[in-house]
Amino acid sequence: GKERDAAIQKLASEAAVEVVVRISHTLYDLDRIIELNGGQPPLTYKRFQALINRMDAVELPAERITLETMQSCVTPVSENHDDKFGVPSLEELGFETEGLPTAVWPGGETEALLRLERHLERKAWVANYERPRMNANSLLATPTGLSPYLRFGCLSCRLFYFKLTDLYKKVKKNSSPPLSLYGQLLWREFFYTTATNNPCFDKMEGNPVCVQIPWDRNPEALAKWAEGRTGFAWIDAIMTQLRQEGWIHHLARHAVACFLTRGDLWISWEEGVKVFEELLLDADWSVNAGSWMWLSCSSFFQQFFHCYCPVGFGRRTDPNGDYIRRYLPVLRGFPAKYIYDPWNAPEEVQKAAKCIIGVHYPKPMVHHAEASRINIERMKQIYQQLSCYRGLGLLASIPTDPSSGANGCRAGGTKEGQRGSSEVPEGAWRSGTSTQVHRQASM
Ligand SMILES: Cc1cc2nc3c(=O)[nH]c(=O)nc-3n(C[C@H](O)[C@H](O)[C@H](O)COP(=O)(O)OP(=O)(O)OC[C@H]3O[C@@H](n4cnc5c(N)ncnc54)[C@H](O)[C@@H]3O)c2cc1C
Repeated sequence: GKERDAAIQKLASEAAVEVVVRISHTLYDLDRIIELNGGQPPLTYKRFQALINRMDAVELPAERITLETMQSCVTPVSENHDDKFGVPSLEELGFETEGLPTAVWPGGETEALLRLERHLERKAWVANYERPRMNANSLLATPTGLSPYLRFGCLSCRLFYFKLTDLYKKVKKNSSPPLSLYGQLLWREFFYTTATNNPCFDKMEGNPVCVQIPWDRNPEALAKWAEGRTGFAWIDAIMTQLRQEGWIHHLARHAVACFLTRGDLWISWEEGVKVFEELLLDADWSVNAGSWMWLSCSSFFQQFFHCYCPVGFGRRTDPNGDYIRRYLPVLRGFPAKYIYDPWNAPEEVQKAAKCIIGVHYPKPMVHHAEASRINIERMKQIYQQLSCYRGLGLLASIPTDPSSGANGCRAGGTKEGQRGSSEVPEGAWRSGTSTQVHRQASM
């Protein structure tokens, strides 16, 4: 995006066209945040919050462009303008559209503004400054979801910010809003800031904020994950929803990201980024890569001794298994008791469900308890080699028997809204290198 903008500015100035640049895709001037931090991006959310507390207040959204604004601009438009430059339809682009279901996420600003209003109406959320608790319903796309609209610029993050402020003032008359009111927007801003000036942010090699981890290369396992054929109903249902609808819930992203990387398959987070980039409607270069690094314990965060269990996590979220039945109709006939681990169902239950595991639906591709135990041990060794972690006491909290944290069925240590609690202290990234697993040049 930056390269594109620079190229357009260059073209414009060569043609003697004045270019007015406004910061509008983020709340703050990110370069200014980095400047305030001594030229380095802040690498913990806490540090980031401290810096934005010192920034000037967020500017109001830019004025809408009206006919009046455009008065002095005259652009000759020929009769056949739309034919030549109009947006082509899907059919014109060669896509089959017959029989397609209605879009779950209709595009455009009108839709974005409608969603924003609905989003704000959920007063309980705003009044408590937190996201609603996760349950089976939260797994589905709702008409209040905003991420694809923010990503494509249909919704201005500043408009969102000021609407939140207004609402807060209405509900809590005399107090000024806490930063937590803007939590999700600020996480977005955090990832944008850390990615600024780091063209390798979506890669491991050459990325100064990323721990170098010797991930396995396993195209076959990767394809099973990406295509929802792992044999774990919870993971496969999430990946199917992602492929069909282009959006999955935040904690569903946690589940599949942990499974692919440090939890079960030990495949690089970069592969996960690519699949999300292709399938997510809200795929955003900074937020996507930053979140994957975080989830795979490659940056920002390192609670690697807690893994999400691909059976227990789903079961706790949706004990009845309706989500699984919706996205994996092949498992529809299983009773709730077995729907998350159908391979454990007795033969007569499988027959009654008209689904034999290993024939109609795959057997689990890994033994979760064993795989996660090995992977936690690997991760522990990697972190022990990072000299910057020695002496900080960060490893002290790791259980001596890592399997106690990955006993096969323990949902991870991260609860919603608890994201910043176990962050690596600022500075930990900036010192030291180690041998086999090394950090890139210190920051
Ligand atoms: C592995 C992984 C990859 C992700 N990739 C993306 C991505 O490519 N694009 C993306 O927008 N979000 C990404 N997220 C963050 C988050 O999951 C989505 O923003 C959220 O699920 C969007 O749903 P919503 O609009 O209902 O969010 P809400 O909770 O209603 O939040 C409002 C807005 O705040 C922003 N936001 C919310 N949570 C986060 C977060 N944790 N980090 C950064 N911004 C946030 C989004 O723009 C969102 O629309 C990723 C998370 C994980 C774990």
